[in-house]
Amino acid sequence: MCVLFALHFFVVNFAHAGLHVVIDPGHGGVDTGATRGSIRESHIALSVAKKLAEHLRADNRFTVTLTRESDIALTLPERAAVAKRVKADLFISIHANASEDPRAQGVEFWFQNQLPANEESLFLVSRENQSHESSNRGQSHGGDETPSPQRDVSRIIEDLHRNHRIAASSDFSQTLLSAWYAEGRRKNKNAIRQAPFFVVSEVHVPSVLVELGFLSHENEGPRLSDVSHQALMARHLSEGVSQFASRLGSERIQ
Ligand SMILES: [Zn+2]
Repeated sequence: MCVLFALHFFVVNFAHAGLHVVIDPGHGGVDTGATRGSIRESHIALSVAKKLAEHLRADNRFTVTLTRESDIALTLPERAAVAKRVKADLFISIHANASEDPRAQGVEFWFQNQLPANEESLFLVSRENQSHESSNRGQSHGGDETPSPQRDVSRIIEDLHRNHRIAASSDFSQTLLSAWYAEGRRKNKNAIRQAPFFVVSEVHVPSVLVELGFLSHENEGPRLSDVSHQALMARHLSEGVSQFASRLGSERIQ
């Protein structure tokens, strides 16, 4: 019920102009993200993002914007600003993971939560939020916190929006996961995760951060840089976005 209501909340734009999907290839330029030899997370993310954009642009239900189209560095606020500027309906940030545990493998879909994060998710959040923290260093966050009835009302409205967005982001993650494993492969039991990543918490539409797999895994690492595997991953993601859009569409006519 909550999810249906949340989806309904995001249907308005879809009824008018289709869905504007913002794809955010993580890292870029001097910010390589995780590496394995000469393999860079930033390159994998850009390649998969471009392939995903190609799939979605072939479907007239979607308008697509990439936060970066080349190997350049962008701060996290700049990425979130792109989503705001184009009035995105969906936001998907693409990354690859690395772990000190050589057994760690598999895709993960992360969405924002308001729960305390565990140690493992905090470690990943600190890695993925690094460029934001370095760009923000030295700035102070002032602000007038004097209570007022208007502020209370706007906070309640903000909370409602946030709760709907989190429920819709959860549903978006589940849909992407089902599409990813549609071929019956064994699911990673921790594939849906929640953490306060900057990009997915600052973009005010259903948002997911995808970790495509682990560069640190001996088989999965090299495979992530394989062009045909990247094409397959992009197809899985495209199928998930398409299924989510179809759900929004069927919500609209109910
Ligand atoms: Zn990353």
